Amino acid sequence: MRYAIISDIHANLEAFLEVLGEIDRSGADGIICLGDIVGYGANPNECVEIIKERQILSLTGNHDKAACGLTEPVDFNTAARRAVLWTRAELTRANREYLRGLPEEGLVDGFMIVHGAPSDPDRYILSEYDAEEEFPLMGENRLCFFGHTHVRVLYSLSGEEEAEVSREEHVRLREGTRYLVNPGSVGQPRDRDPRAAFLIFDDRGEIEFRRVVYPIEAAQRKIIESGLDRFLAERLSLGY
Ligand code: ZN
Repeated sequence: MRYAIISDIHANLEAFLEVLGEIDRSGADGIICLGDIVGYGANPNECVEIIKERQILSLTGNHDKAACGLTEPVDFNTAARRAVLWTRAELTRANREYLRGLPEEGLVDGFMIVHGAPSDPDRYILSEYDAEEEFPLMGENRLCFFGHTHVRVLYSLSGEEEAEVSREEHVRLREGTRYLVNPGSVGQPRDRDPRAAFLIFDDRGEIEFRRVVYPIEAAQRKIIESGLDRFLAERLSLGY
């Protein structure tokens, strides 16, 4: 099986469509989304509807939970909070209900999926030191995909050694090693590369990180026309 793993779409329809096109051409058997379908971008309903229509297995993220009213955006910065409240008003009742029903974590064919971290869906794994605290919580699973930071990365841990970080584009998984892997963000990359990010996982033991160019200006124009914070548009071309 080949899975496309996507995360942090953030209502960026232009990036999402381009990524889906690339996934379809890659011949992946299934698509899994690690959460934050909405928040920041101008097309929350359209992005949720694609997830529903294509029956993409999706987790909920912190922005999804706040946008559908399960939580309040108390620990969000001003631009993020304003975007979440705008999204809440924009979402149709059906899409709000759909977001309310999404799980916080999952287990798919022997690998784990979480939004932030195995310990807490809202935690950011930002370093190998953070990863070292999470590996013991993976139980018997040797592979866990996470999102939330919008930065693509692969952490590995062999035996009792220290966790290692890799930014290789193509990784062959080794026996006896555990992995925490972030595909990066579809709709708001923060690793100084503005191209939309995702990955392909082949369950025979290979991970391939992918990037795709998308029409950033169109997504930016819609953000500005919607009255959302200008910075949310500007950061898309910075990849930050
Ligand atoms: Zn996010």
